[in-house]
Amino acid sequence: MNCLWCGKTIKESIQLRELVTFKKVEPMVRCDSCSDKLVSLQNGPVCRGCSRHWVEEGLCPDCQKWKADYPSYPFKHTALYQYNTFIKEWIEAYKYTGDYQLGELFKKEIQTFFLKQKKQVVPIPISDKSKQLRGFNQVEGLLDFAGVTYTAVLIHCGTGEKQSSKDRKMRMLSPQPFMIDKNLQGNIKGKHLILVDDIYTTGRTFFHAADCLRRSGAQSIETFSISR
Ligand SMILES: [Zn+2]
Ligand SMILES: [Zn+2]
Repeated sequence: MNCLWCGKTIKESIQLRELVTFKKVEPMVRCDSCSDKLVSLQNGPVCRGCSRHWVEEGLCPDCQKWKADYPSYPFKHTALYQYNTFIKEWIEAYKYTGDYQLGELFKKEIQTFFLKQKKQVVPIPISDKSKQLRGFNQVEGLLDFAGVTYTAVLIHCGTGEKQSSKDRKMRMLSPQPFMIDKNLQGNIKGKHLILVDDIYTTGRTFFHAADCLRRSGAQSIETFSISR
């Protein structure tokens, strides 16, 4: 098996678990040196609202600003890895160049996280234009590779502008781009949901999506992203 990212051969020994259970352990998709370039946010001190590295008590300053706008929001986000050059290059190749196969790169971590989840998974949608350009929704791709079932209740009705082309201030002010798929509305009411995106940047996307779902009667909402 070769590393999905750098192409280097991954040498794998038969694992003990495999010998004991006679079950084939899934092959690794990433080599150790690629994995070493990732900074985990799973164990260190992080802000519970956005998962960024944060050593102090309570929410980080960014989340506190959001709290002023969304006072009753529960602020529970999990991100797997810190945003860095490795993540940036992966996002470029996977999302912007449209190399679908690279959606498998974080399969194991996604499986591990969602295995413990009883909540209904809702991916952040992308605009029709982005989908045409890319050929796939990158969030659904990540979940598909990991075998996580989800309900695509959100629709991106769009403001016609590309997120990454706007500066931070503009992104914070951007209008609600999402609406609920009326046919699936029954899947939201009274449900515990977990919203999924690839990257948590300003939080704007998640807050718009969560706002939309809460207005449709979602019981609780937390969020998940690969990176922060
Ligand atoms: Zn590698
Ligand atoms: Zn925060």
